[in-house]
Formats: sequence, C-alpha cells, structure tokens
Amino acid sequence: MIPLDEARQFVLDRCTPLPVAAVAIDDALGLVLAEPVRSTGPIPPFDNTAMDGFALRAADVADAPVTLDVVATIAAGARPDITLTAGQAARIMTGAPVPPGADAIVMVELTDFDESAGRVVVAESVPVGNHIRPAGDDLQPDAVVFEPGTELTAAHLGVCTSVGAYEVQVGRRPRVGVISTGDELVDGPGPLEVGQIRDSNRHTLLALVSSMGATGIDLGVVRDDEDAIRAAMLDAADQCDAVVTSGGVSMGDFDYVKMVLDEIADMRWMQVAIKPAKPLAFGTIGSTPVFGLPGNPVSSMVSFELFAKPGIRAMMGHETALLPPLRGRAGVDLTRRSDGKTHFARVEATPGADGVMEARFSGGQGSHQLSAMANGNALAIIPDGDGITAGDPVDLILR
Ligand code: AMP
Ligand code: MG
Repeated sequence: MIPLDEARQFVLDRCTPLPVAAVAIDDALGLVLAEPVRSTGPIPPFDNTAMDGFALRAADVADAPVTLDVVATIAAGARPDITLTAGQAARIMTGAPVPPGADAIVMVELTDFDESAGRVVVAESVPVGNHIRPAGDDLQPDAVVFEPGTELTAAHLGVCTSVGAYEVQVGRRPRVGVISTGDELVDGPGPLEVGQIRDSNRHTLLALVSSMGATGIDLGVVRDDEDAIRAAMLDAADQCDAVVTSGGVSMGDFDYVKMVLDEIADMRWMQVAIKPAKPLAFGTIGSTPVFGLPGNPVSSMVSFELFAKPGIRAMMGHETALLPPLRGRAGVDLTRRSDGKTHFARVEATPGADGVMEARFSGGQGSHQLSAMANGNALAIIPDGDGITAGDPVDLILR
C-alpha cells in the first residue's frame, strides 16, 4: 500500500490547468479568474443616499427642530436639476444622487412633511455626511477588484457586473465524463432480475462533478467487456477534459477497467492505505486524466473526494487543489481496528455547546452502505490505530 499523500501527488502532478477562456459572467459561477478584474470607475459611481428622507445642509438643522422648504423630490435613478440653498431641503429616496448644495441626509422617521405646504419639520440635528454613501466608497476607480486565482462566487458575479465586467477571463469549465462499469448494473425503476442492482454511482458522481463547478457528461453504463470498455474510454477521453469511471479496478476476474487503462493510458494502479477506496487506477489518455474509481458506492464517493476533486480543482486553476479539513471533535468514541490504513468514517457533524463540530457515526460503515453517506455530512479522518476517543480532536472533511 502507498500513503494517501503519495497517491494524491501522483494524481495532482498529472492534472494541469485547462486553457483560459472568456466566459459570460452568468456562466462563470465557480470558475477561477485567470486575469484580474479591474474597476473602470468609482463604485458607488456618485454620492447617494443610504436612506429615504430629506437631503439638506447640516448647518441648517444645527438648532433642530427647524422647518425647511421642500423644493424637489429626487427618486433613485433621477438626475437632480437643483442646487439646495440655505433653508431648503429635497425629499430623497434610497440610492438617489445627493443634490448639489446638500451635505447630509435626515431619515424620514425624524421628519414631519407637510406636503400641501411644501415644508418639512426636521426633529434632530445631523452631522455633515450623515447617511451619504460617497462615490468610490466601495471600490476606487482603476482598482484591481479581484486577483487571478479568485474563485467566482455569487457575490463576485455581482461585483463584476457592478464594475461593468460582463465577461471574465477564467480557467475553462472542465467537461468531466462519467462512466459506470458492471454487468450487474441497470438503470431505471423497473423490477430487478436476480443479480442486478441499479446503477447509483453514475448519478452520484455526476452530481459531485457539478457540485464542484465542473460539467458532468453522462456516458452511461458499460458492460464488463474489454472491447466495450476500451471503446468507451477512448471516446470519453476524446470528448472530455477528464474521465471518471467506477468499478472494475479491483482484483476480480472481470475487472477490466484497470487492464484497459494499462493498455491505452499511462496508468498507475495503486493500492492506497485508506479505507474505504483502497484501489485506484489513475492514468492519462493523451493528456486527459482518467480516474478509475472503485465500484462500491461509498468507495467511489470517497475516492472522488480524495483524488478526483483535487485533480479537477487543479484543472480549473484553483490555487488550493486540496481544501483543508476542519478540526472538530469526536462526539462518541470513533472506534476502528488497526490495519495500516487511514479511515474515512461516515459521520454526522453537528455543532456542540461551544460551537465546535462534533462527529458521530451516521450509519453502517460498510463501503456498500451509501445511506450512511447520505445521512451524514462529513468524513471523519481516523488515523491508523484504535480510533478516536469521544471528546478528542478529529479532522473532518465536510461535504
Ligand atoms: P467493482 O469495483 O466493479 O468490483 O464493484 C464493487 C461493488 O460495487 C460491487 O458490489 C458492485 O456491484 C458495486 N457497484 C459497482 N458499480 C456500481 C454502480 N455503478 N452503482 C452501484 N453499485 C456499483
Ligand atoms: Mg464490477
């Protein structure tokens, strides 16, 4: 068996960033900037009010309560065509430009407006600048708003459009082909013949691919047949940036995936010192990484998390391919037997009284018991030994 870090480094060394592409901002969620985003002007672009109320001169209300003449109403989007002079105020709505001459806003709650008389009584004095959001308060002109390497989240997309960056230069979104292998697999709700199971891995793996911001390509189920697997692999490598398969990488008689990869890919078949997901066949067909994950449903998910996800993140241009685990603690004894492997236990992690995440087994720990994965929210990393005593620290991979 080889250590996890060594196996993962082998993978990461072969997963290089995809070419940069210009992508429309609404298609850029989760992608990684390859070039800086710059502001073209100040944000906000003009001095504006943070409140509905009255724009006025602070000096005029120093001896509040005072009465002022209301000379205009300024809505958001309006261009003020007045200049306030002493004794005047303008009704103003949140986001509207502060008119020339005004230097403060009094919120509507502190005023009494007599519309027919065109006058307002202001109850309190306010300092200069009150409730005014100055131009450039968020972003200065010509500032680098986001550096290369930034992963674009929902907020980033909003900021980009606010500075007029409707297209961004990012690492291209990887197309990841997903293939299930196995003669026992069927797809669909119909009754199962003896020996058959429904293909769950493909649906799970496609979801894992899209949840990390890549595009999953459903390449179906392939039989345990060397020629069929070879043809499917070559086709997948041709049309995708990376390929994820499940099944066929163990010691069984019909585990053809590793044999085919050995023949058509620059492949390494690894026995990694982890449980679940010990076997991994990883290689490249041309420059296309192929992740031959084990077939057991929990194993394929864990293997995806530990190898495919960092590899695909590296292809996307993420500076940290590997996200660090979170330090929590064992909520119960997380027992295990010593076997030379690091275990990744399916756990439910919930905040304890002090807010620290506490992990408890979320169900059966067999590699076929996918429901424990569904009913949990984390993998607890349990080093080789007898396990982790309740209350002791444990590293968690939150999913
Ligand atoms: P294998 O890695 O092909 O030896 O498969 C290991 C176990 O995982 C076997 O019990 C398979 O039936 C099961 N398995 C393989 N592929 C899938 C799949 N796509 N969905 C659900 N179970 C699978
Ligand atoms: Mg199989």
